[in-house]
Amino acid sequence: MSDRRPYSATIDRVAVPGGEDLVCRSCGHGLGSADAVWKEVARLDERPLCEAGGSVFEATDPKLLLRRFYCPGCGAALDTETALEGEPFLVDRVRG
Ligand SMILES: [Zn+2]
Repeated sequence: MSDRRPYSATIDRVAVPGGEDLVCRSCGHGLGSADAVWKEVARLDERPLCEAGGSVFEATDPKLLLRRFYCPGCGAALDTETALEGEPFLVDRVRG
């Protein structure tokens, strides 16, 4: 679609009446308004970082979590972040 503009490496913005929506770059699945937190509609895999695999992570505090966000439409990996349990999602907003 020609009206798509990049939001991140995996997500595009599309113009809609009254604003912009976010869509998965791989399949076009809607991820909600660009003014909302798209991570709330993504499929979330959250587990202790020490279980992520690889000896470099084994010594990390089990309270430190690895969050992986996937497209609910096609399963493409959209983003990752680390956080402590109960912390809100990290929100990146792109303007312009
Ligand atoms: Zn997708």
